[in-house]
Amino acid sequence: MRTTAQVVIVGGGIMGASLLYHLAKEGWTDCVLVEKATLTSGSTWHAAGLIAHLSSSLSLAKITSYGVNLLPKIEAETGQSVSWHGCGGLYLAYTEDELDWLKYIVSVCRGLGHPMEIIGPDEIRKIFPFYDLDGVIAALYTTDDGHVDPAGACLSFAAGARKLGAEIIQNNRVTNIKPLPIGEWRVVTELGDIVCQHVVNAGGTYARQIGQWTGLDLPIINTTHHYIVTETVPELLNLEKELPVLRDIGAFSGYFRMEQKSGLIGIYEKENPNTIWDDGAPWEAEHELFEPQLERIGSWLEIAMERMPIFANVGIRRIFHGAIPDTPDGNMLLGPAPGLRNYWCCCGTQMGIGWGPGAGKYLAQWMIHGAAEISMREFDPRRYGAFADRGYVHSKVKEDYVLHRVVPFPGLNRLVGRPVKTSSLYEPLKAAGAIFEEVYGWEQPRWFARDGMAQKDVYGYRRPDWFDTVAAECRAVQERAGVMDISAFGKVEIQGRDAESFLNRMIANRVPRKAGGIVLSHLLNAMGTIEAEVVVTRLGAERFYATFAAFFEHRVLDWFAAHLGAAEKVEVRSVSEARGCLSIAGPKSRDILRRITNSPLDNANFPWLSHRDIEVAGHPLRALRISYAGELGWEIHAPMKSMPEIYDAIMTAGQSLGIENFGSFALNSMRLEKAFHASSELTNEVTLPEADVMRFAKLDKGEFVGREATLESAKSPLKWKCVGLVVDAQDADCWGGETIYWNGSVVGFVSSGGYGHRVKKSLAFAYVNSESSEAGTELQVDILGERRAARILNGPAYDPSNARPRADG
Ligand SMILES: Cc1cc2nc3c(=O)[nH]c(=O)nc-3n(C[C@H](O)[C@H](O)[C@H](O)COP(=O)(O)OP(=O)(O)OC[C@H]3O[C@@H](n4cnc5c(N)ncnc54)[C@H](O)[C@@H]3O)c2cc1C
Repeated sequence: MRTTAQVVIVGGGIMGASLLYHLAKEGWTDCVLVEKATLTSGSTWHAAGLIAHLSSSLSLAKITSYGVNLLPKIEAETGQSVSWHGCGGLYLAYTEDELDWLKYIVSVCRGLGHPMEIIGPDEIRKIFPFYDLDGVIAALYTTDDGHVDPAGACLSFAAGARKLGAEIIQNNRVTNIKPLPIGEWRVVTELGDIVCQHVVNAGGTYARQIGQWTGLDLPIINTTHHYIVTETVPELLNLEKELPVLRDIGAFSGYFRMEQKSGLIGIYEKENPNTIWDDGAPWEAEHELFEPQLERIGSWLEIAMERMPIFANVGIRRIFHGAIPDTPDGNMLLGPAPGLRNYWCCCGTQMGIGWGPGAGKYLAQWMIHGAAEISMREFDPRRYGAFADRGYVHSKVKEDYVLHRVVPFPGLNRLVGRPVKTSSLYEPLKAAGAIFEEVYGWEQPRWFARDGMAQKDVYGYRRPDWFDTVAAECRAVQERAGVMDISAFGKVEIQGRDAESFLNRMIANRVPRKAGGIVLSHLLNAMGTIEAEVVVTRLGAERFYATFAAFFEHRVLDWFAAHLGAAEKVEVRSVSEARGCLSIAGPKSRDILRRITNSPLDNANFPWLSHRDIEVAGHPLRALRISYAGELGWEIHAPMKSMPEIYDAIMTAGQSLGIENFGSFALNSMRLEKAFHASSELTNEVTLPEADVMRFAKLDKGEFVGREATLESAKSPLKWKCVGLVVDAQDADCWGGETIYWNGSVVGFVSSGGYGHRVKKSLAFAYVNSESSEAGTELQVDILGERRAARILNGPAYDPSNARPRADG
């Protein structure tokens, strides 16, 4: 057996095989996949094989789209059949909310080139005559997705990879993975060791155990799922065409497809889903199926049978009950493992047949080029931290399973297993009516219930009940002052003799030259695309403070660790949990702070974009004069335990001036008005010129990671560009992912959107191709099935001269 390789992939299910194939396609052929039994012998072989366009994000839609386009063609290349059935799909809606979700999917997927439409009951009946449509108001009908033989798909990737020179070793268990001092990995297998540069954990239901060898605690729990296959159904015998896959989350919480001339019915039980192998999957398990637990699915199966009476008189031929790996948010773990260099996760996948082809492609790009061409943020394994302990993961995975039957509303607040990480302001804010969302484990207020409203989230693709409440919060910030707990921010201190030169190499902007200076900047990879946005404050000659969105915590720390030279004297320390942070913003914020501090706050002493150490209500703290809301304002950074007293002092001082709490929904509305790009705009897909944030780069300051690529991007025609839009919306705003049209052609997608309450306009950011990116261009955006007019703005919709945050007094 070979003893070295560039890449070793552990696990030969659909995820590992697809990655092997795509690495080879991209040019990395010195790759070996090691499988403990035979290919597909884990979860893959027993999957129902469905590939559906159903998706609640643009990135996931792109991943599925890739599979739908590839699988019908792959046999011609590899010689291995995948039994592609492009029978299409029907997704039933019983409520207007479900219908809005389906319309949203249409608005995303049409832009990716997939034919789909919303049809009424009469048309559904023509396409699918055997279903009782009582209560159904409409369906999404797709014609180009369907199902495959999952084992065939996996073997086809394997065959394709072998043809390109990659190797597969079966019946050989990996028993350990060890880091070597020179940065390589030793993969210990039953047949010998392989030393490699990159190792990939594609172990499916074993992935957590495999991770434990290197100290990882991957947030994966294995659930189980059932489907049944019936005897031959006489009514299906003489059909000219295969019926589309039918999904019904309203009535029986499951799916139906034809299996030859039989029926295949899968059920996602709505209560108490089953987990398995909590203490580890047995290594000897192979093609494992569990005893059916009909009591779990029986009642839903009955409903399915009632809805499809053609099954009433046929028996059940076989019941499949198998394991599926899942994560707390239901998304894959696809990307670098936290804290380990060149250790990649390709696991935690609950829809491996649908997602595996695209997942393999985009992970291969990330491994080889340093970034994928689609945003991978929602799959990045580093979105979890120590907060995701076993109890949390367990309860969230069960919650995720049950959510298969729930409309994935934008901002759906997954409440189970929380709170796991609270700031010291959690209790006072809860008492003040906060509705919290979870951000990297932290509880962050999104809006505050007022005027007798229930302290409970409400959802919808159209403007929900909190719309007016958020408007009131924005008004308070605009007219008086507002305060928001932003303790969830990642916070890192960087100090040492080489801290300045190190940071200058890390970020595209110039590190502030004087203590007290603040810059907004970006970490770029070698391709010049964006890894993270950071605010860097200079605290002293050799001391800096960097803050960033919460979920970049691991990413920023790993990035710094990976780039720190052995001879450089720099210490990087996370203070995210030790320090709290709140934002006070609004024209009265200076007057309020003056009541509780003796430090001067006028422009001469405390200019915009600067930092001062001040004392507030007797607490020494860091004040940063910046405001994401675009108003006069400060961020107050202080030890976590001081925050309640500081908050109380601010609220007491501000009471007579009308201060109010505000949350992230109001902040999002205000940053849209100010044309401040957020993490939805600043992704690994785009360069600084494409994101239209070149003003935050200093190309003349010397070398920094990504400089050459940024220069190249700046002088080449842009593939696409980020633009701000004002949208002629009605009762629904953009959420992100919606398709943009210009003169009838698809020219881009929305990255984020919402309503600007201060300007009273519906706003969005979108990436559009450069021909259609001129200010003033009249575009159209598909919102819930309607093409709405959208004009490209030529600057921020609110306070374009930036006079308000710079106000003196
Ligand atoms: C009943 C059922 C129906 C499903 N239907 C669908 C569907 O219709 N559509 C869909 O998209 N998904 C479906 N799924 C989910 C799908 O099966 C999984 O998402 C997918 O198979 C996961 O693929 P994987 O490659 O991550 O894992 P696996 O297929 O389990 O592959 C992991 C491999 O790693 C190997 N391995 C583990 N440890 C080691 C080691 N130490 N050394 C060497 N090898 C090792 C295992 O033997 C295994 O072969 C279904 C699942 C079930 C249970």
